[in-house]
Amino acid sequence: MTEQPYDIAIVGAGAVGLSAALAFARDGFRTALVGGLDARRDGRTVALLNGSIRFLEALGVWPKLAPDAAPLATMGIVDDTGSLFRPPPVSFSSHEIGLGAFGWNVENTTLVERLAEAAREYVNLTILSRQATGFETGNSLASISFADGPLIKAGLVVAADGRNSRLRQTAGINARTWSYPQAAVTAILAHDRDHREASTEFHTRHGPFTLVPLPGRRSSLVWVTSAAEAQRLAGLDDGALARAIERQAQSLLGAMRIDGPRGLVPMSGMSVDRYWSQRLALVGEAAHVFPPIGAQGLNLGLRDAAALRDAVVDASAEGREPGSDETLSQYQRGRDLDVRLRTTAVDSLNRTLLSGLLPADFLRGAGLLALSNIGPLRRAVMREGVLPHVGAPRLMQGAAA
Ligand SMILES: Cc1cc2nc3c(=O)[nH]c(=O)nc-3n(C[C@H](O)[C@H](O)[C@H](O)COP(=O)(O)OP(=O)(O)OC[C@H]3O[C@@H](n4cnc5c(N)ncnc54)[C@H](O)[C@@H]3O)c2cc1C
Repeated sequence: MTEQPYDIAIVGAGAVGLSAALAFARDGFRTALVGGLDARRDGRTVALLNGSIRFLEALGVWPKLAPDAAPLATMGIVDDTGSLFRPPPVSFSSHEIGLGAFGWNVENTTLVERLAEAAREYVNLTILSRQATGFETGNSLASISFADGPLIKAGLVVAADGRNSRLRQTAGINARTWSYPQAAVTAILAHDRDHREASTEFHTRHGPFTLVPLPGRRSSLVWVTSAAEAQRLAGLDDGALARAIERQAQSLLGAMRIDGPRGLVPMSGMSVDRYWSQRLALVGEAAHVFPPIGAQGLNLGLRDAAALRDAVVDASAEGREPGSDETLSQYQRGRDLDVRLRTTAVDSLNRTLLSGLLPADFLRGAGLLALSNIGPLRRAVMREGVLPHVGAPRLMQGAAA
């Protein structure tokens, strides 16, 4: 026996899928969320920028997450490439654009746990802790099937099932993937000195080395370096790795201690040629993947969820179906530029660091110098960094509508 159709079914209970489910349930849609909760602590933290915090506020999650998050009030960039065109360190303060913080850094698992707690409180949100095995689409409904148990039907299915999205593949949406000759070493650290709510990115010849504040005298590290060096670092014991990190950080935060799980993440990217097919919308890493540089991936994924919610709410208000082609084209129009710009920016920064070519070094150095010295440009870049100027989803603008 099949259940009554849902308005919207989301597959994947990561941070993006949970946020999308909450956004639809909050607006009264009969919603299903398919997927098991992954509560493994892997040491990955996410810096949630200002727009994402407003979205979490609108979803009622932020007050419960805030105690576990640290504000990012200052962002520093240090050119450690040894290039001829090495500019002096650049620092940005959120106060320059009238914000108390650019964003907040929190462990990804904590974020997922708080989102899941909020999801359990909605009566119109059903959580099905199962793996989806199939997806089929018809004119009026799509269906999701499981290895065990009856299938479910919905007017719109949202693929939030991550970079290897089964739904994307089943729907035949093309994905272009690429890789970099690098990997990222991740760790959570305790240190002697206060971070003063400052995140610092050292640009090295092998990629950025970034320290991001956590509550107390703790920080998270994403150290992008050559694949071989990352393997070597990953093989060190905690004490030796902590010393290597302190050296690379030029003792900025004093002595370091590993204070949580460590990870090793290969660097790759993925982009799709469209964000939807009949009755299916892609969000989060099902739609785009890029290296963990510049705190962009999840922020972009949350913007997908909030933008899809806007398109669906508008469609309903105009008497259109949430899963109609028109609704989904509107969603794609709203996301295309944002995703392409961020993917290109992260890719270009990474490649100019790796190239070692003087023209590339010059351009990067000149860009940083301009950011240091030209006030309006600095402020425009900072504002655009926390939320796109054009087309920001409504729940990210602080208007809970
Ligand atoms: C080291 C590192 C640091 C990062 N730092 C930042 C940062 O500071 N800021 C930022 O914005 N981003 C950051 N990112 C990127 C960010 O972590 C990702 O963009 C984000 O976690 C992706 O979330 P998602 O929900 O789209 O995918 P996922 O977290 O991969 O979730 C997908 C979910 O779908 C489930 N699933 C898959 N298939 C099925 C199925 N068939 N049925 C049911 N469920 C299924 C999976 O089990 C999983 O729970 C970082 C990434 C890394 C690696």
